[in-house]
Amino acid sequence: MNSFKPQLNTDETRVREGFGIQGSDICVNLCPPVAFRTNHFRRTLVNWYRRNGRKLPWRETGDPYAILVSECMLQQTQVASVIPYYNEWLRRFPDFGTLARASESQVLRTWQGLGYYARARNLHAAAKIVQGRYDGILPRTIATMQKLPGIGRYTANAVATFAFDESVPIVEANTARVLARIFDLRERIDQMPGRELLWQRALSLVPKSSAHIYNSALTDLGALSCLPRQPKCGICPVKKFCRAKDPEALPLKKARPPTLRLTEHHAFVTRQKRILLQQSDHRWRGMWILPPLKRRSANRRPAYKSIFPFTNHRVALNVYAQRRQKIENRSQRWMRVNSLESLPVPSPHRRAIAALLSKRPG
Ligand code: SF4
Repeated sequence: MNSFKPQLNTDETRVREGFGIQGSDICVNLCPPVAFRTNHFRRTLVNWYRRNGRKLPWRETGDPYAILVSECMLQQTQVASVIPYYNEWLRRFPDFGTLARASESQVLRTWQGLGYYARARNLHAAAKIVQGRYDGILPRTIATMQKLPGIGRYTANAVATFAFDESVPIVEANTARVLARIFDLRERIDQMPGRELLWQRALSLVPKSSAHIYNSALTDLGALSCLPRQPKCGICPVKKFCRAKDPEALPLKKARPPTLRLTEHHAFVTRQKRILLQQSDHRWRGMWILPPLKRRSANRRPAYKSIFPFTNHRVALNVYAQRRQKIENRSQRWMRVNSLESLPVPSPHRRAIAALLSKRPG
């Protein structure tokens, strides 16, 4: 049963209640020859957001837990991919207490397919601390939030502004891109001086009240208009404030590391209605994978091949059907085929298992 009930204090409701901006409308540093009118910028941005902002499920709640879940899921992941996971997560784990009591296997199974599983493990660990130490209520202070596993500066500020409407900036991929272009920042934003400069610029613009609306608006400008490639400058609501001479070249970052190629060999071993699996202790720690082979089977062709990306790797997965019947180490188990749905299995291995099982006679 889903006991989670989104509160009806949506951004849209809050916007209708009015956007109270405080502070002077004067230039923020480095402005000559044209003054950067902060209040004017905010109002223009928020007016655009009122008409064009995205309706997202985590914007329909003020629940700090739900907002924290959304922020963890959104790290490195597109909004469209996150939405079904977010809804399912809240259905299964509607609050810190439910999540704290869940097993790691249940948590990883629910996260399965979203990738970067450390986020799920950290969220689980954070829930146990919040439940045990704070009676299931997320501490409001940013410094305390940052002591929880997986919660860094961005996530703590995002929860503070979206759940508690604190006047704090947020710097993530979308807002970083917008700010780097608006201010034509020539520092690399993935290195400390550039990163700090971004946070300072973000802080200089954030309003004292209704900061959550302004921050949502800045994020949506990056997601909808100020795109990484081919930004829509021609229809950008804040074009007159923007100093970028070559927007597509910004933000500056150091060159991406080259893609590394890896080949991995695994065994597909079945016995009656069971399959041999191994609990991973590194890349997919806690999840169940096909047992790894130290080297490929001599003179045999893989029964299944695929390629998948992993961080900056391109991994070739080769799976060999084997007759071996013995368990080779303590992390291996014979699992019932009909129990696979409830096990956390990383997507590349889940696809391999499904393909190979479908080829089995009977
Ligand atoms: S004018 Fe272009 S580069 Fe500047 S903020 Fe708007 S979309 Fe981004």
